Amino acid sequence: MERTLSILKPDITRRNLTGAVNEKIEKNGLRIIAQKRLHLSLEEAQKFYAVHKERSFFNDLCSFMSSGPVVVQVLESDNAIEHYRKVMGATNPANADEGTLRHEFAESIEANSVHGSDSLENAAKEIAFFFSEIEMVG
Ligand code: ATP
Ligand code: MG
Repeated sequence: MERTLSILKPDITRRNLTGAVNEKIEKNGLRIIAQKRLHLSLEEAQKFYAVHKERSFFNDLCSFMSSGPVVVQVLESDNAIEHYRKVMGATNPANADEGTLRHEFAESIEANSVHGSDSLENAAKEIAFFFSEIEMVG
């Protein structure tokens, strides 16, 4: 079993789609083993996305991620990191395959509904950013 960090972004909470996304996550065989709703400060978003600090879209991304509540989750399945990336679809919803979360829900390349860790190393860091071991129940 593997774990990945998922975030339902502010475009999802704004449109009251938390349950709709979670239904798809669960139907795709991922188990939500931890979950909480938070409103990130700009500083917290900048810290979480520090890997992207040199990218042109960093400031816009961090303002968007702190523009409203998010739902942070730990998802568990076999091969969870790669599996969830497939369930999410391409970063730009215009390129996301039918049936993926971003194809169904995303508004734009920035407001693209969900985040998922991209490697084992980043998943461990991102999970530890939000959750302690006692909060994860498989
Ligand atoms: P995430 O890390 O959120 O799961 P990702 O791994 O598919 O998404 P990254 O390249 O890590 O994509 O970019 C992080 C986030 O930054 C994207 O999800 C998107 O919200 C935003 N982003 C990426 N590229 C652009 C861009 N060209 N313009 C605006 N925002 C962008
Ligand atoms: Mg990424």
